[in-house]
Amino acid sequence: MKILVAEDDKVSRMTLAACLRGWGYEVISVADGLAAFEWLEKTHGPRLAVLDWEMPGLDGIEVCAKLRAITDLPFRYLIVLTGRDREEDIVAALEKGADDYITKPWTPGELRARLGVGQRMVRLYEQLEETSLRLALAAQTDGLTEIWNRSAIMSRLNEESARAARGGTPLSLFMLDVDHFKRVNDTYGHQVGDQVLKEVARLLRDTCRRYDNMGRYGGEEFLIVVPDVSYGETETFAQRFRQLIAVTPIYADGTRVPVTVSIGAVWLAPEQSGDMGSLIKAADCMLYRAKEFGRNRVETCMFGQGPNAIEKNRQNEGCTL
Ligand code: GH3
Ligand code: MG
Ligand code: MG
Ligand code: MG
Repeated sequence: MKILVAEDDKVSRMTLAACLRGWGYEVISVADGLAAFEWLEKTHGPRLAVLDWEMPGLDGIEVCAKLRAITDLPFRYLIVLTGRDREEDIVAALEKGADDYITKPWTPGELRARLGVGQRMVRLYEQLEETSLRLALAAQTDGLTEIWNRSAIMSRLNEESARAARGGTPLSLFMLDVDHFKRVNDTYGHQVGDQVLKEVARLLRDTCRRYDNMGRYGGEEFLIVVPDVSYGETETFAQRFRQLIAVTPIYADGTRVPVTVSIGAVWLAPEQSGDMGSLIKAADCMLYRAKEFGRNRVETCMFGQGPNAIEKNRQNEGCTL
């Protein structure tokens, strides 16, 4: 485990560092409080520190206080090392943010034992952090397909449209719907239907680039958010998604299930801005058109420039292309 040692006295610092290395720690040693603070405030800085009280720049207690003032700093276990041993000093150190306190001259046995407590606390916090990360990810993941769930893909779309507006870059949104999926369920059963959805999601996700986002929007409907490609590429991407599903054999329970998807694609030009709701509505309208024109089909438009005929036909249903 990494540990920071801050001590202005060179001999004491070297003795302490040698001792800690001997116990297997990876030691970073500094001679003043400012350098200690700079190491410890880094997100991936050492989690364990032994800080001398009196040092130039910032003293050890000031380092503790400044670190505790950073609300989103990952856990740090801070041990103050000092010649002061009056009760009010101990109280002040702990109140300002030290986790523990060792008086000089320190003995190896006590120091090692107190560092052991620190290690236990660090490991506990690491487990907590890991668990909360896992829970946060699970809350955003669709249980069946293991891609983003509806609220997560909407958030990604929101973030990406804000990023595109900031950076003056285009954004493409694809809405995909499995054709006649009810028939799949009716013919092969719901479990096979589930496996088909999993496989469709896996195939699509595997063709996406690292910075594309894909999520399950509803039952057999998916959204794919693709930043920074041209209008022509948007059409090409959509055809690639469609063709992939149409030509890849999908097996469930040993049976080959014929599957196709229809896709509505919308391209938001660099100078345009589009809120999430309008983008989704536009993609949905294009999807509707792809269904109407026969399924296993792609319909693409530039945002705000959908076909007038569609606009007229769909106004009652809230389509505003
Ligand atoms: P269309 O080509 O017009 O989209 O026809 P469709 O049959 O795919 O559309 P429809 O909306 O009539 O039916 C969608 C079906 O998807 C109905 C529903 O039971 C099924 N479905 C939704 N979610 C799931 C799921 O998680 N698992 C399974 N097996 N089926 C699902
Ligand atoms: Mg000192
Ligand atoms: Mg549907
Ligand atoms: Mg469908």
